[in-house]
Amino acid sequence: MECPIDGTVLETHPINEIIIEECAQCGGIWFEGGELRKAMEESDPDLSWLDFDLWSDQESFAVDWSSRKCPQCGRNMATISYADTGVMVDYCADGHGVWLDKGEFQTIIEALENEIESMDVSDYVAASLEEAREIFVGGEGFVSEWKDFLTVTRLLQYRVLVENPKVAELLNALQSSSPFK
Ligand SMILES: [Zn+2]
Ligand SMILES: [Zn+2]
Repeated sequence: MECPIDGTVLETHPINEIIIEECAQCGGIWFEGGELRKAMEESDPDLSWLDFDLWSDQESFAVDWSSRKCPQCGRNMATISYADTGVMVDYCADGHGVWLDKGEFQTIIEALENEIESMDVSDYVAASLEEAREIFVGGEGFVSEWKDFLTVTRLLQYRVLVENPKVAELLNALQSSSPFK
């Protein structure tokens, strides 16, 4: 598979239990759909971090077409965003996977930090996000070096992609008016 931005052949990296495709050129990451589901199914010793009420305002989600194409099927992906957080996720509406720029991953982590600052969340979540932030701010290389990577992966899956009827509804509406068919 090739990077949807610069065409570089993506490199496969195992992170904990799941496998991602990473672009050595731009640092973007492709999460294949099956790997995302696998991340969901892996037992988590501390699922309590999912209990806090994050990104819960359904009306704050927006969906539009992305100029990027799915590395697997070549169709234009959809961009999912949330309010003014700056969070944008490119998603293949056929479920092949999710694309994140390196900068987008940092934006997501910063948005999470801003939201949880005012919340009573577990030390596990706070420490995990702090570790992620240090890696990005310190320029210590790719996300694959982050051992708690699964935390954010699962959060994306739970909050944005799976258990979110509003996003599903918006994606359906977008698909039915597709200029790409
Ligand atoms: Zn790239
Ligand atoms: Zn696809």
